[in-house]
Amino acid sequence: MKITVLSGGVGGARFLRGLRHHLREVLPDGSGGTTAEVTAVVNTGDDMWLNSLRIAPDLDSIMYTLAGANDEVRGWGRIGETERVSAELNAYGIGWPWFTLGDLDLGTHITRTHYLRTGVPLSEATARITARWDLGVTLLPVTDDEVETQVVTDEGTMHFQEWWTRHRAALAARRFEQLNVGAATPAPGVLEAIAHADVILVAPSNPVVSIGTILGIPGIRASLLGTSARIVGVSPIIAGSVVRGMADACLTAIGVQTSAEAVALHYGARDSGGLLDAWLVDETDADSAAALSASGIATRAVPLWMRDLDSSAQVAADALSAASLPQGPR
Ligand code: GDP
Ligand code: CA
Repeated sequence: MKITVLSGGVGGARFLRGLRHHLREVLPDGSGGTTAEVTAVVNTGDDMWLNSLRIAPDLDSIMYTLAGANDEVRGWGRIGETERVSAELNAYGIGWPWFTLGDLDLGTHITRTHYLRTGVPLSEATARITARWDLGVTLLPVTDDEVETQVVTDEGTMHFQEWWTRHRAALAARRFEQLNVGAATPAPGVLEAIAHADVILVAPSNPVVSIGTILGIPGIRASLLGTSARIVGVSPIIAGSVVRGMADACLTAIGVQTSAEAVALHYGARDSGGLLDAWLVDETDADSAAALSASGIATRAVPLWMRDLDSSAQVAADALSAASLPQGPR
């Protein structure tokens, strides 16, 4: 079975870890892995150059989480991290003092930058970097091109990371723009992963700056519309709240309510040119299921809190079984 997952960083990483766990239990390959092939198409809109290094936060969040090398308590970065190099950079007055680069994490950024500087595209650099770890999931950046997300605010236009990390999304966002997106193309393997999938899962990731960025790359939407795989989304919103993070600020900026129902309608039903065949909402949002199903998005209510490995695996299992849900009435 070929499974393709559209993913942002932390929410996507938890979902992918649960999916891998579920598949190892139901489709074991006899060596601790799984016979299912999982490919994650990952947002690169948060990427940036900082101190001459290429940072790719969502790719790294997924890699560290699947490698078991992530810091669960802090919620991002490497476990056992130190920040000695960052302290030196601050002392020299370069970089962003509010954006800490851990010492271990810098090893990843230096490796990535080394490859990029020697002409290796991001997708190949990612393949080489992830080969070090036993991830059990293939990570594909959605594009090799630089399509950094800019946030337009009344205080000026800034890189998404500055708005998110420095300002904690507190400046009202007028809109999000991806630099050079019109000229971007999907990275090698991405369109194939969509076209040849048996099922496509949209992770419970930020609908605007993670999934929205992926959908913004020319060619991606058309390939999703055209694939014979069913597309199942998992709501990142539970009971009108974002669970973790500040995605509500992004939804507000694009005029979408912070609710599981509004996000589903924003993605749209595939048979009306949208993204979704099916959608999972949390049990607390069960009320929205009937109306969404009637609008062409087969909706099921199940627990969506990814508290630990088992609950994350159950979310993934429910997403896979929703792939064979009959369509709601039209
Ligand atoms: P980022 O790139 O690190 O911001 O991560 P993503 O874009 O992959 O996902 C962020 C979103 O995941 C958050 O805005 C939440 O809405 C969602 N999320 C986080 N934890 C959970 C969870 O346990 N359950 C669900 N359903 N969504 C979650
Ligand atoms: Ca991100």
